[in-house]
Amino acid sequence: PTFSELEEARRALDAPLFADLAGDCAVSFEFFPPKTEKMEAQLWEAVSTLAPLAPQFVSVTYGAGGSTRERTHATVARIAAETSIPAAAHLTCVAASRDEVDQIARDYWAAGVRHIVALRGDPPETGGRFEAHPQGYRNAADLVAGLRRVAPFEISVAAYPECHPDSADPTADIDNLKAKIDAGATRAITQFFFSPEAFFRFRDRAAAAGIDTEIVPGILPVSNVAQTRKFAGLCGAAIPSWMDRLFEGLDTHPAARQLVAATVAAELCRRLYAGGVRHFHFYTLNRAELAYAICHLLGLRPAAGALEQAA
Ligand code: FAD
Repeated sequence: PTFSELEEARRALDAPLFADLAGDCAVSFEFFPPKTEKMEAQLWEAVSTLAPLAPQFVSVTYGAGGSTRERTHATVARIAAETSIPAAAHLTCVAASRDEVDQIARDYWAAGVRHIVALRGDPPETGGRFEAHPQGYRNAADLVAGLRRVAPFEISVAAYPECHPDSADPTADIDNLKAKIDAGATRAITQFFFSPEAFFRFRDRAAAAGIDTEIVPGILPVSNVAQTRKFAGLCGAAIPSWMDRLFEGLDTHPAARQLVAATVAAELCRRLYAGGVRHFHFYTLNRAELAYAICHLLGLRPAAGALEQAA
């Protein structure tokens, strides 16, 4: 075994029980902008369920190629207006000129949004090669530098514990993350992953490359393995074979599937916690239950004021 593997085995043995977890960690939640009234209601139910856990921030994704420009803005604006949680807007530079992207950023600043999750985005045709817009930002690092010129935003960027598919090798991937941090990003949020070892190895490589900003693991509680597998291939995440085995035979047992999903994701969080992680970012898919249950197991409880409000 490598040093990292031994270190990870040691960390797993030292891992505290759920009963010992005191909620001394930060969480953040990612939502996507709703398309219909029904989806809007579902999103608001999720936001109001998770808000009492006092997330450090929530973020709202930006549809492929900027397809949700107005809806992302409207969702971020509503969260800012109706809750006290800092809201971050995702912004991509694919298929847009620098002027267009800068204008969107200026509009966010004017609307009081102070945190952008800056991303390159994916080409419009699934699996195609990314081509920068002729007048656009070349990649996420270039976008971060551009946003810095617009206003002093807090900027988060993406990171890939199992390597981005466009990356020549893991070193190039870390170099790219370093370029985004050097351009002015202050936090990296990872693509989802299911192996704590992959995250720890990545974090070690990032530290060795001089990256000292926080690297927040992105947690995807999975209850549909087939769907996740389709998506994972495109974005540089591996689905371990044990995952199929765990969900085998549960297609017709939705409640059991949810319980298994929460257990698997909570166990990942517990192992990450044992390795020193104190901020978890949840891909909620606009549903609160799984994220809420995992936060609860991590020891988080609604803020006192929030309980009184709900009573
Ligand atoms: P970059 O960091 O620019 O680059 C990705 C890879 O391309 C790098 O690893 C690097 O290897 C390679 N690369 C970049 N520049 C160069 C160069 N000059 N030369 C050689 N290689 C280079 N997508 C959306 O459309 N909307 C969202 O809201 C959204 N939110 C996301 C949130 C998170 C936390 C994550 C992890 C991803 C999100 N994505 C989103 C997906 C993201 O847009 C894709 O993963 C995209 O393919 C890469 O974006 P990036 O910002 O990581 O790109």
